Amino acid sequence: MDVIFRNVSFTYDNKTNALENINLTLDSNLIHGIIGPIGSGKSTMLELMNGVVKPSNGKVIIGKYDLSNENGKFNFNKFRYDVGLVYQFPEKQFFCNTVGEEIAFAEKIFKQKNQDIKRRVIDVLKVVGLDESYLSRSPFNLNGGEKRRVAIASVLISNPELLILDEPTIGLDNKSKKRLMKLLRSLKTKYNKTIIIVTHDVDMLYEIVDNVIVLNKGKVITEGNKIEVFKNVEFLNKNNTPVPNIIKIERKIYDKYGIDLGYLPDMNSLVRAIANYKGGDQSE
Ligand code: ADP
Repeated sequence: MDVIFRNVSFTYDNKTNALENINLTLDSNLIHGIIGPIGSGKSTMLELMNGVVKPSNGKVIIGKYDLSNENGKFNFNKFRYDVGLVYQFPEKQFFCNTVGEEIAFAEKIFKQKNQDIKRRVIDVLKVVGLDESYLSRSPFNLNGGEKRRVAIASVLISNPELLILDEPTIGLDNKSKKRLMKLLRSLKTKYNKTIIIVTHDVDMLYEIVDNVIVLNKGKVITEGNKIEVFKNVEFLNKNNTPVPNIIKIERKIYDKYGIDLGYLPDMNSLVRAIANYKGGDQSE
């Protein structure tokens, strides 16, 4: 499900220009990351993609839905089914007593048929890496990683093509973070989801996204393949945009020792490359 921003601007109260003339196409079946300093317009973009607010100018189109359409043809319930949003604080979206009810909720409201709901709830629990024992547990008494996975499951039950996640790794310990990253990767590769992640966590982004969009002061200042974007360290520094640690380390090794290890996909690969480095010209 492609997401298209065409000449999109958004102004709060006719005063603050939160977004200015955004032109973007986020292609299907990829993971896209949106980053930028506080106040750069990330939340506003998220609200526009969530159909909650309409652009002041331009068009936001998600698959067959024109979210800027004012003619009343926009079917919000159907849209909710195709586009799932996972909020920054999962507990704020929970309101049922058990994980099972929480996940089944959207399905009951929108489809109103009960027969296969339980089976589907168990299926999506499995997809997010939780077993049936979670069905009767309170969603409020889980750890941060589990809460996040229940929130994702409650969105996945509708089988959306597009998943939008707001700061998914915030408050997670390293282990939960790794599990979540693995889950997001599998949602793309195994279940063909298109995923958009709004975050400050550039280390996580570097490991899992295909493309990155960098916002600053309401504008897209650079976008594209993650390596192309992140290797531009001086440009990112100048624009208060964090650079992933792995790129910083690779850059230091190059500056200090003249060793070019290339752009490796994750820290483990970097550690291996350093450990296996033989020195000098390796082609000899
Ligand atoms: P980010 O998510 O990157 O921190 P936002 O989209 O929240 O950025 O904000 C973009 C700009 O819009 C900022 O200048 C912010 O102060 C302003 N803004 C955000 N929400 C509102 C609002 N409800 N009313 C007025 N201005 C707002």
